[in-house]
Amino acid sequence: MNENRSSGSVSLAVIGGGYGGLCAAVMASACKIKVTVFERQDKPLKKIALTGNGRCNISNENISINDYVTDDRDTLDAILSSFNREEENRFFSILGLGLRSDESRLYPVTGKALSVMDALKYKCNESGVSFVCDHTVTAVLKRDDHFEIRCGNETYDTRFDLCILACGGAAGVYKENSSNGFDIVKKLGHTIKPVYPALTKVICSADDQKALKKLDGIRVRADLKLLDDKGDLMAEESGELQMTATGLSGIPVFDLTRYMKVGSGKAYRISVDLLPGFTGEMFDERMKLFPLRTPETFFTGLLLPAFVPFICGRCNINIHKRMGDLSDNEVSDLINTLHDCIFDIEKTGDLASAQISTGGVPLSEVDLHMRSKKVNGLYIIGEMLDVAGRCGGFNLHFAASGAFNAVKDMNSYA
Ligand SMILES: Cc1cc2nc3c(=O)[nH]c(=O)nc-3n(C[C@H](O)[C@H](O)[C@H](O)COP(=O)(O)OP(=O)(O)OC[C@H]3O[C@@H](n4cnc5c(N)ncnc54)[C@H](O)[C@@H]3O)c2cc1C
Repeated sequence: MNENRSSGSVSLAVIGGGYGGLCAAVMASACKIKVTVFERQDKPLKKIALTGNGRCNISNENISINDYVTDDRDTLDAILSSFNREEENRFFSILGLGLRSDESRLYPVTGKALSVMDALKYKCNESGVSFVCDHTVTAVLKRDDHFEIRCGNETYDTRFDLCILACGGAAGVYKENSSNGFDIVKKLGHTIKPVYPALTKVICSADDQKALKKLDGIRVRADLKLLDDKGDLMAEESGELQMTATGLSGIPVFDLTRYMKVGSGKAYRISVDLLPGFTGEMFDERMKLFPLRTPETFFTGLLLPAFVPFICGRCNINIHKRMGDLSDNEVSDLINTLHDCIFDIEKTGDLASAQISTGGVPLSEVDLHMRSKKVNGLYIIGEMLDVAGRCGGFNLHFAASGAFNAVKDMNSYA
């Protein structure tokens, strides 16, 4: 039995001072658990400053299982249901953090990520949470009744009753943001699924890029479908598509990248509907109105002008030909291309530019309390797990949900 437990208090090591780790530290210390956070950078929460373009989209008013991609939907459903809106609001009030909603996305009321960082740090300080920064944990060793924490050759001198791994994924801009947490958890007997960048742009084939150069910077509301190499539908998203000189970007594209394993030998295509809801009947009516117009002027008011030569180029239609003079085949090609404009995906953005990584520890290797199914007393939370939320506050919410469920298991926090 270690010294902390004999004096009646449970000791917890939290590996990783990111959002999930600090949520767990605040929640556990509220239950009189003695918490030590290990962080490899010089201070905790560095990534939070970058989230939501510096505003930190901390959560979302409408969270559902369908906002996530994971291997274990039942466990995820139980995790999300337990940390419901009421519980999350209660946690934000404990932090003294005011929030505002922007189309259901929740941000600190100050509009600054710094407020989230400060609120968590002040609460940790008030609660007596200890920090060991500038220390990269290289191993967590499970002994009979305690955990030992190793940082290189050094073994930290406190024995811990419980341990939460909250080391995040492999995405991000810090050079030291490698997948150290995965090394630790692998040594403890967990599986690590291959890691891929997600919530990032896609780069299209060289052929597509030739035409895309003329669309660089254009934004359009569109419906997108992700197709596999057989043409089967994998996922659908709608929203503001951003064209770049090399590919596609914007939130619907980011969300589709959660399904991609680019570099694993799989090929992907994205089908873009540039005029969602514009039916064949609507097209016929417009043809009756403007039969003498060329495609360039025919689409005025419907489609941004830069798209017209792009679409006509794809169907081999002369842009100066009158619409009324197009053959039936040309008309149907035009309509099909508008609604099903295919882009071949070469790759996604890299891990450094991605907001999250997919893969990692399968969610099925923890239970709804984030308890490792391999090591007693060990919990795994946040982006280390194979759970990929869409853009909109869902990933920070998942990290906090894990913290909540783990601490609830430790000491009936709720
Ligand atoms: C640019 C950007 C913008 C984003 N915007 C949003 C957003 O607006 N909303 C949203 O929901 N999500 C956003 N995300 C994703 C979100 O930040 C992450 O999903 C979330 O931070 C994961 O929380 P975590 O606690 O699991 O890991 P992290 O927050 O990544 O924290 C892990 C911590 O562990 C430390 N660590 C790792 N290994 C070790 C080790 N071996 N020893 C000691 N310390 C270690 C790391 O240094 C880090 O501080 C964004 C991500 C990026 C990169």
